[in-house]
Amino acid sequence: MPYTPVPTDPKASPVRINLLSDTQTRPTPAMREAMARAEVGDEQIGDDPTVNLLCERVASLLGKEAAVFMPSGTMCNVSATLAHCRPGDEILAHETAHIIAREGGAHAALGGFQVTRLPGADGQFTLDTFRAALHPRTRYEPPQTVVSVEQTANIGGGTIWKKAVLDDVAALAKRQDMATHMDGARLLNACVATSISAHDMSAGWDSVWIDFSKGLGAPIGAAMAGSRAFIDEVWRWKQRLGGSMRQAGVCAAACIHSLDHHIDRLADDHANARVLARGLSQMAGMVVQEPETNLVFFDPSGAGLPGQQMVTRLRDHGVLLEMMDGRIRACTHLDVSAAMIEETIGLVRDIVRKA
Ligand SMILES: *Cc1c(COP(=O)(O)O)cnc(C)c1O
Repeated sequence: MPYTPVPTDPKASPVRINLLSDTQTRPTPAMREAMARAEVGDEQIGDDPTVNLLCERVASLLGKEAAVFMPSGTMCNVSATLAHCRPGDEILAHETAHIIAREGGAHAALGGFQVTRLPGADGQFTLDTFRAALHPRTRYEPPQTVVSVEQTANIGGGTIWKKAVLDDVAALAKRQDMATHMDGARLLNACVATSISAHDMSAGWDSVWIDFSKGLGAPIGAAMAGSRAFIDEVWRWKQRLGGSMRQAGVCAAACIHSLDHHIDRLADDHANARVLARGLSQMAGMVVQEPETNLVFFDPSGAGLPGQQMVTRLRDHGVLLEMMDGRIRACTHLDVSAAMIEETIGLVRDIVRKA
């Protein structure tokens, strides 16, 4: 069955308020101008000056030796584990991680890796849970090669891993001779929310990537950073997977524009998320997870309406969002205004009242 996040009814009213995902942003006029002006070359042979500039910017932002531009965050995760592991190796990640839940089984299908699902609240595992999952290195157990974290933890509620925990997990992984991988699809949301630099936040992590097509508002692209040797290996996989591009500077220009203009404003998305959560939590029976960044998870069933019905009713009113892991996820972003948040709260209140 094809995956469609929300039933698409051709007769449905147009979407006016799009809380489905921060991937839904459209490039701004200024971003499109930057794209039109971009100097370009052949990315595949390292000749696109705009892509090269973006890679330098990302390497320095994340405090690593080198970076590579990728078509998607998924390709960053997949090529990272392919570069770090050999068939039969074990990757440790939280049970709700994107690499487990949303990459079509790529790590098993393409790499022959097994991913161990670590439990824990809010999309995060503790140092103790990680330690308990480690096993001796004998010929019996699969080699434990990579530990992976998501900053922020998406299905966990957009929660922020504390830097001290990240440091501890990375230090223990290093003592075990494991590589450390950070899925930083929304790393910059965590950095803006905590005022910790991306460089510090990812200091103990061998591979780390950011997504430009999420809250940063670019149409395409992600970039992964690491040591020069790691990035060389990732390039091999990028080529193998068909991710090498040509005049990709047009896309890289949008990403550079987003680094220059769309990082600080993530704070607006976080403020909108807090307002939405506060408005929802004032309704009797509504269960709302306190947002730390731009994702608001809530369950209206205690307020008299199952989540999927709420999603459908909101869609009838032109508000798009979806169920994720048993709750409704609302995502704030560049194309969501404070007024849209107020309107959404009002609509939910009306729907609950009539239920
Ligand atoms: C979106 C997302 C990805 C994948 O990024 P794409 O650019 O959509 O391929 C990976 N991890 C997390 C946590 C994400 O939210």
